[in-house]
Amino acid sequence: MTLQLVLATHNAHKVEEFQKILGAAGLGLSVAAYDGPEPVEDGVTFAENALIKARVAAQHTGKIALSDDSGVCVDVLGGAPGIFSARWAGSHGDAEANLRLLLDQLGDIRDPHRTAQFHCTIAVVVPKGLPQPAQELTVEGVWQGRLATEAHGAGGFGYDPIFVPDGATITSAELTADEKNAQSHRARAFWALIPVLRTLALDSSTAS
Ligand code: IMP
Repeated sequence: MTLQLVLATHNAHKVEEFQKILGAAGLGLSVAAYDGPEPVEDGVTFAENALIKARVAAQHTGKIALSDDSGVCVDVLGGAPGIFSARWAGSHGDAEANLRLLLDQLGDIRDPHRTAQFHCTIAVVVPKGLPQPAQELTVEGVWQGRLATEAHGAGGFGYDPIFVPDGATITSAELTADEKNAQSHRARAFWALIPVLRTLALDSSTAS
């Protein structure tokens, strides 16, 4: 039996990236986007916010819920924007304005001081009443890089046009979707999740 997961995000880019990464892992899982009410993300860490979203989706659907909370952390800014990445330039969540503000804030700061990381925390919440034991857990993925001085590329989303991964000379918005999914923070968090998902899938097949 295919284990059905619900992905607690309304971000279509994230759903697409997750589906591709999950498909490539060949675990026999299917993932659907959660379309219920969105909770207030009032945690102060990526993990707290990811858990808030996954708990609500698990409660509403009765299914195992996954959610990610992610953002870009700039070393010279003490880790900002961090959990505020989606609303850095204001609560409207305008990705272009966020990116422009971050570039302005870095101003003339040069390499090697433009280092940054994309962070991703994935939370898993297994609600009561399933064959799998009820549980909550989080895993992390980090993608190291630096910020360019201007935007390049049309792929990806958010800060991709200014993020140059370590070892690359182009931004993550210039990578193909497959190239990004093979190394991104989301992929790295997902790799840490694979053993957990394998166990959950096994629990569901032994119960059916
Ligand atoms: P979340 O939806 O609360 O996790 O917000 C994540 C925010 O971090 C997004 O709106 C983007 O601004 C940024 N972000 C997260 N992952 C990526 C990525 O893969 N590329 C570019 N920006 C990202």
